Amino acid sequence: MRYFPLFLDLDDRKAVVVGGGEEALRKIRLLLKTKARINVVANALHDELSSYLKDGRIIWLAKSFAPGLLDDAALVYSADDDLHHDVAIAARDRGIPVNAVDDAALSTFITPSIVDRDPVVVAIGTEGTSPVLGMGLRSRIEALLPQALGSLAEAASHLRQSVAERVPHGNRRRSFWQRYFFGSIRDSFLAGDTRSYTRELEAALIDDSSPSVGRVSLVGAGPGDPELLTLKAQRKLQEADVIVHDRLIGPGILELARRDAIRIPVGKTPFAPSPKQSEINAILIREAKAGRHVVRLKGGDPYVFGRGGEEQAALAAQGIPVDVVPGITAALGCAASIGLPLTQRGRNLSLTLLTGASEDGLAQHDWAALAKPGQAFAIYMGVNAAGDISAELLDAGIDHLTPVTVVENGTLANERVMMCSIGSLWETLALNGVEGPAIIYVGLKPATTSADILPFPAREATGHQVLRAAS
Ligand code: SAH
Repeated sequence: MRYFPLFLDLDDRKAVVVGGGEEALRKIRLLLKTKARINVVANALHDELSSYLKDGRIIWLAKSFAPGLLDDAALVYSADDDLHHDVAIAARDRGIPVNAVDDAALSTFITPSIVDRDPVVVAIGTEGTSPVLGMGLRSRIEALLPQALGSLAEAASHLRQSVAERVPHGNRRRSFWQRYFFGSIRDSFLAGDTRSYTRELEAALIDDSSPSVGRVSLVGAGPGDPELLTLKAQRKLQEADVIVHDRLIGPGILELARRDAIRIPVGKTPFAPSPKQSEINAILIREAKAGRHVVRLKGGDPYVFGRGGEEQAALAAQGIPVDVVPGITAALGCAASIGLPLTQRGRNLSLTLLTGASEDGLAQHDWAALAKPGQAFAIYMGVNAAGDISAELLDAGIDHLTPVTVVENGTLANERVMMCSIGSLWETLALNGVEGPAIIYVGLKPATTSADILPFPAREATGHQVLRAAS
């Protein structure tokens, strides 16, 4: 981050705009949202600016620019190309933030795209890298935020005092504000239903049923790409007091969590002993019994090779409420990422999800059934056992040319894809040094050749590579 975002108090402060044309007008319209004293330096004024002048909303400071005109200004816009240089120097000399329109080199600040629900303001910046992206994000956020959001926040500021007196600090108060901003109180407010608003507000203020036992949400985080989280998972991450997460959960996902939530990493670390499941259960129980809302964040889906069922049972045995938010499991996420349909008419009518590893080594399956023609399966946790798995399948009579696709770090920036046959699976993994989590698809011949797979969208952006297969 080169530019540090902040909100500058312009109440009754001097802001100078040099220029009187279209560009100046655009900046002045923005500044008019504040209570800044807007001073314009220009030899002529745009009609709209003249009307602001007449209404006393701006001051026409001077016709021609002189450095001393900037004295005591809180910020300066230069909206006159010919003067950019002089204005920028004068502002820098005085330590005043300056923006020369369309000239990043001379500017010391940039103006973000803004979604304005005063006093709620969302500022979006791309550090000048992608203005179109910035505008696109802005319109999406515009669509997301109700118009009356600002009034809701304003009303909240008038309530703070009585909430502080009537609602105990901590969980209770937080859940009051949750209900206020995200629950039924907000709904009545936004609908303009004053009677329900008042009734619900009063009810929430007197409700002293503080939750003595917390709860646990088992939340699926998907295979890695943060955009594959569900809306519900995202909300849970925002509401959590404590997040107990697998170590493999990427920072991009944890970034979406409430900033002051406590984070407890558990689970596998390469080359180190993993905490036992009983230890993880004990942490969940301890945190929930302390009255906290715990999110147990797990890769993929909690119920698919995620031991979600064991955690759920341990919590239920203690009378702790549990809810489950599904996630996109690796087999689905990785397939979408590389454009590999999981079922296809005329090819396979079913897909088996299986694990390569069990507690005591190689997981045992009905290899003979899996080896039959037309079978398709996705193997989780199969990299270490790949040699044994292919040997079992070959012994059981699988065609050694059965197609195999391996996706490592699927949906992440370092995703890699390998294609080979079951006869060369082990060598392919070894040759390419597969170390990250990987899913192995057997019997799903890609509809295209490996060369054709490359142009799938976002290939380059995600750094996806198609790698050599052992022959
Ligand atoms: N609950 C998870 C699975 C946990 S088991 C889910 O539903 O996806 C861990 C295994 O998941 C890994 O060994 C690997 O086979 C697979 N996996 C998880 N994330 C992956 C990813 N980003 N790319 C490829 N495979 C992944």
